[in-house]
Amino acid sequence: MKTREVTIKRIFVDQKGIAIVVCDGCGRTKKISKVDSKMMVKPILVSCPCGNSFRVMFDARRHYRKPVNLRGTFRIVGDERLYPMIVENISFSGLGFRSPFVDNLKLGDKIEVHFRLDDIQNSLIERVAIVRHLSGHFAGAEFVEDRAYDKIINFYLRQ
Ligand SMILES: [Zn+2]
Repeated sequence: MKTREVTIKRIFVDQKGIAIVVCDGCGRTKKISKVDSKMMVKPILVSCPCGNSFRVMFDARRHYRKPVNLRGTFRIVGDERLYPMIVENISFSGLGFRSPFVDNLKLGDKIEVHFRLDDIQNSLIERVAIVRHLSGHFAGAEFVEDRAYDKIINFYLRQ
């Protein structure tokens, strides 16, 4: 007889609603497609053919965009000029901003963004991002992985 502590595994859901669940007991993976928001409300019990059962919590926070209105600057990496911008949304994976200087950008450009969150600490965010979307004076950029900031942004998105 073995008793298992009931831990809840957090499973990230991608933009297409697909999540991959891995059993810690045997390493089997199960792909779950069409994870909808109702499935993210409470943990779900998963029983693996190996006999292991565990609870998972689906999490799509990675793609949740928090609407914000934050002043900041951006510059193209390798270029000293700083351009003002207003950050309009922020997510775990990137940001959207507005600036008349978006005209200077093209898709795939590497930029450095600087802005302060409106949290208690007024956390300074300085991150490198890749321009993924351009429309008029609006740009969307994806953060280049930088774990040091993830905790701050993660906490900010929960507020
Ligand atoms: Zn298993």
